[in-house]
Amino acid sequence: MSLALARKYRPATFDDLIGQEAVSQTLSLALESDRLSHAYLFSGLRGSGKTSTARIFAKALLCEKGTTAHPCGVCSHCMMAAESRHMDIIEMDAASNRKIDDIRELIEHTKYKPASARYKIFIIDEVHMLTKEAFNALLKTLEEPPSFVKFILATTDPLKLPATILSRTQHFRFKKIAQPVLEKHLEHILNLEGVEYEKNAVDIIARSGAGSVRDALTLLDQAIVYSKNFIDISTITNMLGIIEPSLLENLIDNIMVKDEKAILEFISMASGFESEMIIDELMLYLKEVLLSGSHKITPMIIERFFRVLAEAKTLLSIGSNGEFVLSLTLFKMMESLQIQDIDGMIRTLEKELSGVKITEPVKKVEPIVVEEKAQVIEKQEPVDESPLSIEEEISQESMALLEEVDSEKEELQPIIDEGTKLFESLVAKLYDRNYELGECFEQNITYNSFEENVLTWESIANGDAKTMLKNHWGLIRMFVQEIFGFETKIKNIAKELPSSVEPSEPTINETPIDEPVSMIEDEVLGIQDTLHTSTEEAPMKSSCVAPSDGGVESAKEKDERTILDEPMVAKALELFAPKKVRVKRKN
Ligand SMILES: [Zn+2]
Repeated sequence: MSLALARKYRPATFDDLIGQEAVSQTLSLALESDRLSHAYLFSGLRGSGKTSTARIFAKALLCEKGTTAHPCGVCSHCMMAAESRHMDIIEMDAASNRKIDDIRELIEHTKYKPASARYKIFIIDEVHMLTKEAFNALLKTLEEPPSFVKFILATTDPLKLPATILSRTQHFRFKKIAQPVLEKHLEHILNLEGVEYEKNAVDIIARSGAGSVRDALTLLDQAIVYSKNFIDISTITNMLGIIEPSLLENLIDNIMVKDEKAILEFISMASGFESEMIIDELMLYLKEVLLSGSHKITPMIIERFFRVLAEAKTLLSIGSNGEFVLSLTLFKMMESLQIQDIDGMIRTLEKELSGVKITEPVKKVEPIVVEEKAQVIEKQEPVDESPLSIEEEISQESMALLEEVDSEKEELQPIIDEGTKLFESLVAKLYDRNYELGECFEQNITYNSFEENVLTWESIANGDAKTMLKNHWGLIRMFVQEIFGFETKIKNIAKELPSSVEPSEPTINETPIDEPVSMIEDEVLGIQDTLHTSTEEAPMKSSCVAPSDGGVESAKEKDERTILDEPMVAKALELFAPKKVRVKRKN
């Protein structure tokens, strides 16, 4: 094979052009209807067909049969154009002729009539390389060339062109050649050349061509030589120095089932490859899985993997050790399958620590992948296993705890489930409206029950969190009514923080007594209820707390939890037997 494929199969007509239908149609129409501009600009990726199109267009302009979208190919002009020896087609590479003198010479050329054809055509390739002075020199001619002159400018980087040039040309944007189109083209050429091939191997070549026909054909040339007339996957992956797709597929499978041993084997096998290439290939593979519509990996997991891989790219870009980054990445991908579980467990554990009963349904986190589910179940059993990592230990413990609580609550399940679900949507809604508020709410407020239009929750809010909830109380209440029903009353049970935190919290007594929850509008919850709850559960901070009427006492800070025990208040309660007591805070 003496002639490079890229030259041998250079398109000769608009119909031969692949992947640029829009451009070739518009140009054909212009030729047929004789609406020609005097200057054209072709921009697009290298190898996307700009120069080929320019040559076809030039031939179409010069053909003896007249300007036509279908040049005859046999007249002397067509022949000369096809052999790149037409006197009136002047090609110039601006990358190597970028100076003002080069352009002056070209302008000089435009002054003389064409040697034999009806037009004189100037094709300037890589036009963005011209110097500023050269551009300026070209401007005038570009705007008003002699009637027999046509310019075709081509560039890979139209953004580098001065606006004055852009405004004087008809601009055609060449698309990157789509991979399937490129694949078909390569297969077509291999068939013509009589070379056997594996389809997947050709796909890899097309992909590596990255939208450029020329690059893909150059690789194909190389592949034909390298593979001794049979192009298969292992030859191609070897030639390109990329990893075999099947290995990546296995790798992802192993990550999904968390097979650490297999992953370690992969890492040692992959030490001969560029880590960046493997990460790129993994991204491509995931993209394929996503687009294939198979449910092998959910989009959520793909998104997580993608984040991990993107981080890896960042690490590599700052020169981190490739092999280390790759190992880290693969293990992070494995870990990322678990994130949701761990989140749930930490939350549960936090609640345990703050002495709050768990009423959330335990199986809230549904495993995303089937394999994952199997894994979770496995992890509950081996309690007697030798040293576990802390994380594992925690997860096992909390699992056990969860199970207990779960069985205790069995009879109440239906009611709880309904309320919990509504509560979850409340949290989601708050997050949606205001992320910080949602977070604050979720961290501090725990669902307790929802019965007879009374939503009961427990709050560990303090300090800033309390202020935040208070400031957004109107919104919270509105959402509660929207979700739980308009009649819904909110009952708040304030909880202490775990004792370990308390001593260092001098703010506790200074925080406003009438936190959001104390605005509880419930008539149903009389003082009896309140007191009842507070003895059984924890100190109560709700509605109550009466202002001691302007005495010296009132000027001082009172602890809302003990205020009802104050002799004076107790007496007042006895006398008036109120349904409700409200304490107002004086600022
Ligand atoms: Zn012709």
